[in-house]
Amino acid sequence: MSTDLAPQVRRRRTFAIISHPDAGKTTLTEKLLLFSGAIQIAGSVKARKATRHATSDWMEIEKQRGISVASSVMQMEYRDCVINLLDTPGHQDFSEDTYRVLTAVDAALMVIDAANGVEPQTRRLLQVCRARNTPILTFVNKMDREVKDPLALMDEIERELGMTVVPFTWPVGMAKFFGGVLDLRKDQMRVFSPGEDRVAGTEEIVDGIHNPVLKERFGAAYEQAEGEIELVRDAAPSFEAAEFLGGRQTPMFFGSAVNNFGVQEVLDALVDLAPPPAERRAMQRVVQPDETKFTGVVFKIQANMDPAHRDRIAFVRVASGKFTRGMRLKVARSGKELRPNTVVTFMSQRRELLDEAFAGDIIGIPNHGVLQLGDTLSEGESLQFTGLPFFAPEMFRSVEVADPLKTKQLRAGLTQLGEEGAIQVFRPVAGTVLLLGAVGQLQFEVVAHRLEHEYSCKARIMPARYNVARWVTCPPENGGDKELQRFIDGNSHRVALDAVDAPTVLLEYAGELRAMQDNWPKIQFHALREHA
Ligand code: GDP
Repeated sequence: MSTDLAPQVRRRRTFAIISHPDAGKTTLTEKLLLFSGAIQIAGSVKARKATRHATSDWMEIEKQRGISVASSVMQMEYRDCVINLLDTPGHQDFSEDTYRVLTAVDAALMVIDAANGVEPQTRRLLQVCRARNTPILTFVNKMDREVKDPLALMDEIERELGMTVVPFTWPVGMAKFFGGVLDLRKDQMRVFSPGEDRVAGTEEIVDGIHNPVLKERFGAAYEQAEGEIELVRDAAPSFEAAEFLGGRQTPMFFGSAVNNFGVQEVLDALVDLAPPPAERRAMQRVVQPDETKFTGVVFKIQANMDPAHRDRIAFVRVASGKFTRGMRLKVARSGKELRPNTVVTFMSQRRELLDEAFAGDIIGIPNHGVLQLGDTLSEGESLQFTGLPFFAPEMFRSVEVADPLKTKQLRAGLTQLGEEGAIQVFRPVAGTVLLLGAVGQLQFEVVAHRLEHEYSCKARIMPARYNVARWVTCPPENGGDKELQRFIDGNSHRVALDAVDAPTVLLEYAGELRAMQDNWPKIQFHALREHA
């Protein structure tokens, strides 16, 4: 095993920003890029965002996909580090997609709107992070507004998210009277001034958080902050790296992204606190990030970027080794070989980053279907990373073509969209009508829209009677495939095969599932399917 790659691994930070819509994720993303010096991209984040609040929000996203693929992964250099920032879809109906993105990061940055506190989408995403013990940094945004009391906010985050909050900065005042933040670690106050013109290193700093000039200058707001800090110091535990890395403690920062305030501290915290890429578990063994041989896993697929070509890009998180253009790679699932020469790399400031990638980096490999979600790539080793989940859908529709001559297009389109993870497609073992399964309603609309525009196939999407799905398996000690076949034969009217031919039972009510489990004790029912 090599340690030659260790310095490259150590300097990488790969993270996602998570938040409820409107908390300031886009703004903060843009400012992080600005502060790291990657200013040229800031505009594209904004351009994409400009369309997002339209009512036909996803259609606009579709139009903007050329931009969104570029800004869905951003790479920047800051201090000695290479930072990979992964965007997550804003809308909750695409939370499955978000979940998969979160499997590709080593840390998350949670943005909270200080006026609204912990909102539903944040709560949901946080559960995902907690389940994986992802370390989380917290940025409390919009302190230039009338917001909740900081102690109350801290309490709310602790209570709602079940993590201990460790404040690294503390606000002095808010809204019109927002004076800045006290930096509890550096023992200084950073004075707030509104506006977007300032960048790194131009803030006014007052040394000493107990400096008498602060009281003179900020009066009651400062006195209150000082009192609150005392309370917090007594009550909150001190920061411990192990607790943070285990997802049990979150360092908290206050700021105002739109005013470039507090952004630098977050960037520094990412470098100083967030972990570099760690080992990853595959079915066969544990893979170290600094092993010489390349391995990676596909966590996202985006198809038809260019409607004129049936292309698609697989987003691969490098798990180990070094990726170089034109190297020969093997897809573990199919045994197929791949030699990607044209690789989509994501924004970076320095030329040399474009031709190679290390653990933690994301590369985009254009392909025509060779790569699927959850696929593992290696230099030849048979290896399958685990942990890329598919959730049992909670909504179902049946789908037919308006024009029967287009049946072939429908199948082709749905296969692609299914492989991309945009929707789950089920083929009943008895019957011909395809079933679509989703976690959120919008997914159906996106699929109908894309079938029409990318596959010239107008689909009729109709209600289906199902509400519950479970993947079914049977372990060898219970009778294995033979018992599973017996189950399928006995329930053929409600068994379907998914995109990778995994048998799934579809039911109307949760009660039915319980009865079925009682009747078929040897069969296992799964709400989650991992990898292909
Ligand atoms: P996203 O939906 O989480 O990506 O949120 P955006 O970054 O688009 O921000 C939502 C709105 O909040 C926009 O109008 C921003 O200009 C505004 N905003 C972002 N940060 C701040 C801030 O620090 N203070 C104030 N007052 N507004 C902010």
